[in-house]
Amino acid sequence: MAMANGRQVRKRIIIIGGGFAGINAAIGLAKLPVDITLIDRKNHYTFQPLLYQVALAVLSPAEIAQPIRSILRDHRNIEVLMDEAVNFDLEKRRVDMKTGVQLEYDYLILATGSTHSYFGRDDWAKLAPGLKTIEDATEIRRRVLLAFEFAERQMQEAGTHPPLKFVIVGGGPTGVELAGAISDIARLYMTRDFRHINPADAQVLILEGSPAILAAYPPDLQQKAVDQLAKLGVSIRTGAHVSDIQPGYVMIGSERIDATVTLWAAGVQASPLGKLLHVPLDRRGCVIVDQFLNPPGHPDVFICGDLAHVEEKGTQVPGVAQPAIQMGIYTAKRIARLVAREQGSDGSGLSEPFHYFDKGDMATIGRKAAVANIKWPFHGHWSGLPAWMVWLFIHIAFLIGFRNRLAVFRQWAWTYLSFEDGARLITGSQDLPGWDSEYGREQNPAPAEAAVETKST
Ligand SMILES: Cc1cc2nc3c(=O)[nH]c(=O)nc-3n(C[C@H](O)[C@H](O)[C@H](O)COP(=O)(O)OP(=O)(O)OC[C@H]3O[C@@H](n4cnc5c(N)ncnc54)[C@H](O)[C@@H]3O)c2cc1C
Repeated sequence: MAMANGRQVRKRIIIIGGGFAGINAAIGLAKLPVDITLIDRKNHYTFQPLLYQVALAVLSPAEIAQPIRSILRDHRNIEVLMDEAVNFDLEKRRVDMKTGVQLEYDYLILATGSTHSYFGRDDWAKLAPGLKTIEDATEIRRRVLLAFEFAERQMQEAGTHPPLKFVIVGGGPTGVELAGAISDIARLYMTRDFRHINPADAQVLILEGSPAILAAYPPDLQQKAVDQLAKLGVSIRTGAHVSDIQPGYVMIGSERIDATVTLWAAGVQASPLGKLLHVPLDRRGCVIVDQFLNPPGHPDVFICGDLAHVEEKGTQVPGVAQPAIQMGIYTAKRIARLVAREQGSDGSGLSEPFHYFDKGDMATIGRKAAVANIKWPFHGHWSGLPAWMVWLFIHIAFLIGFRNRLAVFRQWAWTYLSFEDGARLITGSQDLPGWDSEYGREQNPAPAEAAVETKST
């Protein structure tokens, strides 16, 4: 603590972003004699790895999200502000908020994560929502469930309905999880609910631009994922570059692929806040930081989580939850040491760099199926039920809050045993791009010969 006018002045730490990195940094700093303000534009922390379970109506939003205030309520030196950071003055050590509030800091932790990238085609966002927030998840849930309702209505009226096709652009973990979960709810959970259609006839297609799905996984696990998806009836097209998305269909070059619902799981870019720092960024907008997670020339600014471009042995640390958690914890420790040095201690440990401890990756592929590339506490490539059990255990264990863990466990166990679904609610509008919301009829039926202008990406 420094002295000012005979008073001891506590260091002010601002954390922007209450996700994996920000919350862990805040908790790590909570016992220090410092004043912390955590700012997030949402009032809740979201456990993003389980968002697809909300999108596909297995879990409810409150089971995977929790108010940031309640997570941090027991730490008297942390205050929470619901606001949006919109600018920085790194020289004056100041952050500007959307509401006009200006806050000064001694240390700044920026952990605002990442967002979807539509590769310059932001007009596709309305037609093919991505999955990042609770709002995205409930929007996807709305579209998927509405598609079944429209098909049922058409079948009832006309005795036929166009095939239900769910097209997912992107074959990374999120695309694979969404595809498996749509197939599951259609085949296992919805069949008893409809009288005219057979939900199990729904088709699920993954379009992936690169030669293989799950690019970050070893080839044997990629193949296992393909096999498990095939068992669920999910089709995969690799090397498929989507050139246009329109209401009711997707184009790959000159080929039209009908899509009752299109979902986007193809691209990620860093939070736009990185640009406002005027420091070097990589091509996805991540802030390039040194081994202490500082951008060049700013030892008082820490970048954590998906927004950070940090390298370990020449390879970029991936934008997933474990690195974000570890960066948050590391930053709290480093700030503790910096504060201690300012208070006259020896500053030992200050030369310790950030090190990412990689425990492995896993992706689930529907009920009872997953792939896991385990690196700790042992090495192994797992798939099928054992991988799914590990995935289940880890995801429940990492949920914040005992109440959430219990609720998720109970809901999963119930869903698993009973084939009942807890959250199949359609909320919001009844619009589905390409469909007439009043009658549930297709507005863009496929032309006999598709002659559509194509664009290349
Ligand atoms: C659908 C999905 C599934 C995933 N599955 C997995 C998985 O299975 N395993 C895994 O390891 N990782 C997974 N991830 C990745 C993982 O969730 C992220 O890597 C992790 O959330 C990054 O943490 P973070 O703290 O950097 O950012 P986030 O957790 O994204 O938190 C960022 C916070 O910043 C806030 N914010 C943003 N901009 C502002 C602003 N201007 N002002 C104030 N607040 C702001 C946001 O509201 C948010 O609360 C998944 C991600 C998604 C989207």
